[in-house]
Amino acid sequence: MNGHASHRESLSRAGRSLFDRQFATGSSGNLSVKTDDGWLITPTNSCLGRLDPAAISHISSEGRHVSGGAPSKEWFFHKACYEARTSVSAVVHLHSTYAAAVSCLADIDHANCFPSLTAYQVMRLGKVPLIPFFRPGDQALGPAVGNLVRRHTAVLLANHGPVVVGRTLEAALYAAEELEETAKLFLLLHQRRCSLLTETQIEDVKRHFPSELAEIESADQR
Ligand code: ZN
Repeated sequence: MNGHASHRESLSRAGRSLFDRQFATGSSGNLSVKTDDGWLITPTNSCLGRLDPAAISHISSEGRHVSGGAPSKEWFFHKACYEARTSVSAVVHLHSTYAAAVSCLADIDHANCFPSLTAYQVMRLGKVPLIPFFRPGDQALGPAVGNLVRRHTAVLLANHGPVVVGRTLEAALYAAEELEETAKLFLLLHQRRCSLLTETQIEDVKRHFPSELAEIESADQR
């Protein structure tokens, strides 16, 4: 259990930071990190801004609740992420305002919710697919998320919010923040004529920053 202490502190610190900057409100959102013996996830009905490190839930690799408070009701899609991609060490799920707003738009491209607006979006997120609506707690959401996380760093749950994975908690947080900022830009620019990155520019960015790439170009996908 000793190895959990720093993870518990990291999750609490991350939750507070997200909450203080209004990426999470009320008891929405949940965070998890992989450990040697399963993973740690924020408890159900907890506020990310006021997490008690000792109350963070420990789930075994088989999905059994070992200790801490009852896990988030959305724990099962965190499990699906870890099972889908062994390089994933952290999962960040938010109901952040701008990403949630985009997830409610009609006529969104389900293969990629966002046009290519900025280089950091291309590097940190890649394509962000949309998963159709599932009612809260519907276990079928697990495989739906897992299938896409094999090839993507971030997915958007329709009428809900983003799920973002990373090799580290820090990487997942950076990507989640990049997604929220991308959603904000997208909505600011919505229905305006935009100058988007061209395929040539996107390939040039990817070629110059191979270690920064988020999704299918990442090392475990080659
Ligand atoms: Zn949620």
